[in-house]
Amino acid sequence: MALSDIEIANQVEMEPIEKVANKIGIERKDLSLYGDYKAKIKIDNEKLENAKKGKLILVTAITPTPAGEGKTTVSVGLVDALSKKGKKAAIAVREPSLGPVFGIKGGAAGGGHAQVVPMEDINLHFTGDFHAIGAANNLLAALLDNHIHQGNALRIDTRRITWKRVVDMNDRQLRHIVNGLQGRVNGVPREDGYDITVASEVMAILCLANNITELKDKLRKIIVAYNVDNEPVTAGDLKAEGAMTALLKDAIQPNIVQTLAHTPAFIHGGPFANIAHGCNSVLATKLALTHADYAVTEAGFGADLGAEKFIDIKCRKSGLRPSAVVLVATVRALKMHGGVNKKDLGPENVDAVIKGLPNLEKHLDNIQNVYGLPAVVAINKFPTDTDAEINAVKAACEKLGVGVSLCDVWAKGGDGGLELADMVVDLAEQENNFQFVYDLEDSIEEKLNKIVQKVYGGSGVEFSPKAKKQMKQLADLGFSDYPICMAKTQYSFSDNAKLLGAPKDFTVTINELKVSAGAGFIVALTGAVMTMPGLPKSPAAERIDVDEEGNITGLF
Ligand code: ADP
Ligand code: MG
Repeated sequence: MALSDIEIANQVEMEPIEKVANKIGIERKDLSLYGDYKAKIKIDNEKLENAKKGKLILVTAITPTPAGEGKTTVSVGLVDALSKKGKKAAIAVREPSLGPVFGIKGGAAGGGHAQVVPMEDINLHFTGDFHAIGAANNLLAALLDNHIHQGNALRIDTRRITWKRVVDMNDRQLRHIVNGLQGRVNGVPREDGYDITVASEVMAILCLANNITELKDKLRKIIVAYNVDNEPVTAGDLKAEGAMTALLKDAIQPNIVQTLAHTPAFIHGGPFANIAHGCNSVLATKLALTHADYAVTEAGFGADLGAEKFIDIKCRKSGLRPSAVVLVATVRALKMHGGVNKKDLGPENVDAVIKGLPNLEKHLDNIQNVYGLPAVVAINKFPTDTDAEINAVKAACEKLGVGVSLCDVWAKGGDGGLELADMVVDLAEQENNFQFVYDLEDSIEEKLNKIVQKVYGGSGVEFSPKAKKQMKQLADLGFSDYPICMAKTQYSFSDNAKLLGAPKDFTVTINELKVSAGAGFIVALTGAVMTMPGLPKSPAAERIDVDEEGNITGLF
């Protein structure tokens, strides 16, 4: 029987983290050790900004399907392959949230022989960053309700509070609650609700802040509520930013661990990819880039969502610029885009693969011609793929004149990605015409139309009456020049999860617009977006256990 991810991970003897860090010139004095295999890195901002930078490689994917794509797995395999080729390489990816760990089976630290370790730690408490983010978020909530209880000098309208408490757990019971019950001494009763920690704006802020001063400044700008005159009330008005930053002083330092092949891996931050930008912290990417010649990083969901936000939000705000893009595709996902049901993915079906290819082609066109970046296609090989199916993808890529590599890192680790590594090295030397999808000076409506028309292939946006009103309010409040964070289904280029492939002539309906004033973007909600997931009927937690020696089983 094939080994599980945790069994493969446990077979590898890890190197001490000092040794791993030293491979890319990070010295012991720059590390705060969290045990033998994890460390935080003390940031020297001046050094970070002025250091020579390596090449940034962005890993993204075709439109995801329940069949799975494997961006993290390919990212880890690629960085190990680059290391094997003698390149100084590092990876920067997100930290997983506890919610999904106990919910639906599925790791976020890679898979098979392409993983980051220690995987139990990474998937559980790690270095405590998410707990710190939760604490900072909830401190702000406590200050807000206390302010109201103590007389409400800011005249906060308790029906227009936008700040929620968070917990890093899938707990649908907390989505909508009533609190402050039981009389005067126990607070002011109101309707409230919880989000999952990774959906907190504090998470998005931590991931976009270049240093502590910026972190504090962004926290200060968070809008927590509106007052009775409909004016925003901020964390700054509640004098919360200093104490919140104090709680986050260590959490802002990126964490370093290793891949199964002992390549340095920065794992830091994990914002939601719908209401936030869905990439690891700017600081972790910068650290990888200044210490390695090749920094591999991943953006959530497909290239229409994650990569677009990576470029229009993360790159724009940080000055980061990718040199090459890896577009991950799987035969299984292409078959689903070609009309096959998930349960029928087993048997060979070359026609369905070919029918699904327009999805890959549209993403490729976006990367090359909208984002202006050189791209290579990585076919993430699954055990069920047949030669004929793989050849159909290869032939299509060759016809399009784009490099393509069969990537077998899940089964073979870095050895399965050596060809991809060579292609990426060549690609990163090419000139590129990096460009944003829209200008910040464009109106909110223009920005939305540009994303939908250029990236999604739709005809434009429509607004609900509510969104139209909110658009005017946001413009009046001076937020017109913020970038847009699209919250759209990840399963389609359109806002309809059922429209697979590369749909055309659709419009995208904007139901709601709201500002994350601290993180610095306007969130455009195109459907119901879940910010507090629930557990499934048979949660993964039921199968997780630990023995007398502390060995965890059943994680994945
Ligand atoms: P993403 O980052 O795109 O969400 P992951 O890399 O986390 O995807 O992979 C999702 C799941 O699919 C993981 O459980 C991983 O082990 C599995 N997986 C990825 N690639 C393969 C593969 N080539 N063969 C089998 N399973 C894979
Ligand atoms: Mg991933």
